[in-house]
Amino acid sequence: MTLRSVLASLLACTALAVCPASAPAAVPDGELPPPTPRVSADDAIDSVVAISVDGLNTDALAKLGRERTPHLHDLMDSGASTLNARTERELTITLPNHTGMVTGRRVEASTGGHGVTWNDDRRRPATVQSAAGQRVESVFTQVKAAGGSTALFASKTKFSLWKRSWPRSIDTTRIQLDNTRLARSVRRDLRDHERAFRFVHLSLPDSAGHDHGFMSSRYLRAVEKVDGLLGVIVGAVRSDPELVGRTAIILTSDHGGLGASHSDPRRLANYRVPFMVAGPGVEAGADLYELNADDYLDPGMRRTTYRQSVQPVRNGDLANLALDLLDLGAVPGSEHNLRLDLDVSRPPA
Ligand SMILES: [Zn+2]
Repeated sequence: MTLRSVLASLLACTALAVCPASAPAAVPDGELPPPTPRVSADDAIDSVVAISVDGLNTDALAKLGRERTPHLHDLMDSGASTLNARTERELTITLPNHTGMVTGRRVEASTGGHGVTWNDDRRRPATVQSAAGQRVESVFTQVKAAGGSTALFASKTKFSLWKRSWPRSIDTTRIQLDNTRLARSVRRDLRDHERAFRFVHLSLPDSAGHDHGFMSSRYLRAVEKVDGLLGVIVGAVRSDPELVGRTAIILTSDHGGLGASHSDPRRLANYRVPFMVAGPGVEAGADLYELNADDYLDPGMRRTTYRQSVQPVRNGDLANLALDLLDLGAVPGSEHNLRLDLDVSRPPA
């Protein structure tokens, strides 16, 4: 039985899977109405590849243009996107933002966040749960609980935190600092394994930014190179007839960066990140804010707080968007995109 069919039977129109409101069909007296399947444009999707490009300043896309970043531009052309998404409000550093992406939580533990405020290989706290002081689920635990397979491909060793935090829910963890080798591992994995969720972290722009300055020419070359690796991964999906019709790709970043650093969370260049989604049923060439005009607000230049009732698209929306595309319920205890209302296609007329 595939993940899709298991989920279809388990989750169709439960409290976890929010069903679109529609007029009830006329049912003869004395008969129960037939179960309403959750119908959405993305129903073909049963696999999500989430990609985070570490330290991607969205200005790099304009600077390099389509010519030097063809695959990033192609993701935008073929899917729904914005270059004005937000990081976590509190911090614009790697591990806190990535942990937000997979838990759907803010950072600050005292207000329900995941509590991962550090950005190194420390072993204490050993897990996200001990950082948060409570049980913390993730996109990995949700996919695994529904019977799907998951994998993590990361290019920094600190991501081992996730494997310690959700040891039974991440089936394969590959940490490889060489981004080219890592992208090839992802390509092999796409070919050899059936999985519902993969998370891929590519570090090249961040490394070049720290060594030579964010938005420097060496940094821009690193973005160009990571675009090529994105091409390896996306190409592996699109060239495979088994994958192309049922795989969605989500791409975002943990933070931007300008000059020597990205650690000041008050700087636009640090807290502004891209958010792109492509795959079957996803509206091609759409702007995410235009698609989600009722539920999400383009923040302009602002660093929106969590108190605003209408939020900007955030990198932390990733976990629940992936689950939504897989027709699964939101991560328990999460906050970003908790209502699964970040749409990537237009509602049926
Ligand atoms: Zn960095």
